[in-house]
Amino acid sequence: AAVTLALGGLAGCASDSAPAGDGDDSAASDITVGVAMPTETSERWIADGNSVKEQLTDAGYSVDLQYANDDIPTQQQQIEQMITKGADILIVASIDGTALASQLESAADKGIPVIAYDRLINGTEDVNFYVTFDNYTVGVQQAQSLLRGLGYLDENYEETGLEDEKVIELFAGSPDDNNTGFFFDGAMDTLEPYLEDGRLTVGSGQTSMDQVSTLRWDGATAQKRMEDLLTSTYGGGSGQLDGVLAPYDGISRGIITALQNAGYGKTIEEGLPVVSGQDAEIASVKYINDGVQYATIFKDTRKLATQAVEAASAYAEGGEPEANDTETYDNGVKVVPSYLLESDIVVKDNITSLLVDSDYWTEAEIESGV
Ligand code: BGC
Repeated sequence: AAVTLALGGLAGCASDSAPAGDGDDSAASDITVGVAMPTETSERWIADGNSVKEQLTDAGYSVDLQYANDDIPTQQQQIEQMITKGADILIVASIDGTALASQLESAADKGIPVIAYDRLINGTEDVNFYVTFDNYTVGVQQAQSLLRGLGYLDENYEETGLEDEKVIELFAGSPDDNNTGFFFDGAMDTLEPYLEDGRLTVGSGQTSMDQVSTLRWDGATAQKRMEDLLTSTYGGGSGQLDGVLAPYDGISRGIITALQNAGYGKTIEEGLPVVSGQDAEIASVKYINDGVQYATIFKDTRKLATQAVEAASAYAEGGEPEANDTETYDNGVKVVPSYLLESDIVVKDNITSLLVDSDYWTEAEIESGV
């Protein structure tokens, strides 16, 4: 089977063969979708991979799902192999958004549509569609959650009028992930008025991307940087530090470990600084429930998987997926048509309504943290 963009998909040839297994879509039966995911060290990507695979399988597609251990050459090779083995459509969550141009060129040569999953792939013509969350808004929400934890915003994210002066530190994600800049820009635009009028100060003075980024989103790297900041700026742990902007739960937990070890307390109530997050990882949801981490951002990976599968199906049927944003995601070569989903701020109060009621986590998982 070949799903070629130019030839308008495969609906015609699929009718020659019987639908596969449980599949309810006869056009799907001949089609293999290669799904390239970055790493299994973070829960969200495991959940993404599982959801995409399950939903594609339910729709009758064959799936070749690969994880790349956060290693760029491994991901490049996996994508090359998917193409060699005859993938008809690719769904790719890249490790480094600029490192896949040559692989995607071979995909394009074979007429294989490429859907960028969650992370934009940059510097190439050969990415056809992008499914993601509104990444700038995720960054806004991260800063809003921090401001709420610090007391500047209320539970409706309105100003409380608090004028206290507080001290924060900033962390950003991996510099090679296109999302990192969106998250950080959204957060910084939201913090800016507070930094300008002096209610907030970044204690270390480190505010530029090269100072605050965290290669590969690695929690241990973040923990080390937090420890270094505590030594250089906070007398090893006695200085005033009220909050930390953290872009991802794995990073948040590294920061929290450093703060706890330095003696800030085990919980926010005991004096632990307020720390934001992202992804509603189970260990962090437990932390939020226990008053250790203040907040996270919930991005429902099941919905993202659904969008990716819809996009793949559109190509399989010879059409084009429907975008809801055609302006934001310029990859340096073209603006990639995108479908953006919404995210939610999770704090202790709404864990049940957002995460339990939607069957994302059970009470028992939140209780145990695994
Ligand atoms: C994703 C985040 C995730 C981060 C680390 C980003 O590209 O959008 O949801 O926290 O990668 O895996």
